[in-house]
Amino acid sequence: MLQIRDLVKIYPGPVAALKGVSLDIPPGLFGLLGPNGAGKSTLMNILAGLLEPTGGSVTLDGQNTLADPRVIWRVLGYLPQDFGFYPSLTGTQMLDFLLRLKGIEGGSGRRALVKELLERVNLAEAANRKVRTYSGGMKQRLGIAQAIAGDPRVVIVDEPTAGLDPEERQRFYRILGQLGRDRIVLLSTH
Ligand code: ADP
Repeated sequence: MLQIRDLVKIYPGPVAALKGVSLDIPPGLFGLLGPNGAGKSTLMNILAGLLEPTGGSVTLDGQNTLADPRVIWRVLGYLPQDFGFYPSLTGTQMLDFLLRLKGIEGGSGRRALVKELLERVNLAEAANRKVRTYSGGMKQRLGIAQAIAGDPRVVIVDEPTAGLDPEERQRFYRILGQLGRDRIVLLSTH
């Protein structure tokens, strides 16, 4: 269970982006719905241990994630709003590179993992195509593939379906729904 208590974030300005948010998030797919500027990215960046709040607390199964973000980093898969890819790499090469950055060991184990992840997000057939030829939805699914590598207990995805056609959006939600069977999946969208 992810417990958020009285979370406040005030940016210089001052802009009060979060004004005392309290939420209990159990395993499953959890949606954060709100218009642009509502504070969704701010909340997700705090939960991901990338931004310090002005006040409040966050615990994962009772452990304080704000005092030590490694508590969350160890178990987190994260797909930020703007995810950069190298367009001249193939899907396989790109994912292999991202897994190396995540610290997943080399050799045949990583190659097998890349293949398995691409199959899970329905990109097996496009594995050897350059990322520049991918549609927006395919790039988002590649982003999800890197987020779920290492079997994270918490997955955070920020506005993953903006600009996707309805079919791709459905496909994306199906993948997130499957992930939510046994972990916390936090999804933001307007
Ligand atoms: P959402 O993700 O729901 O669109 P954000 O969390 O991005 O909302 O933004 C919430 C509010 O905080 C907005 O008013 C935005 O302009 C403001 N904001 C976000 N980031 C910053 C920043 N780095 N500095 C100042 N204001 C910010």
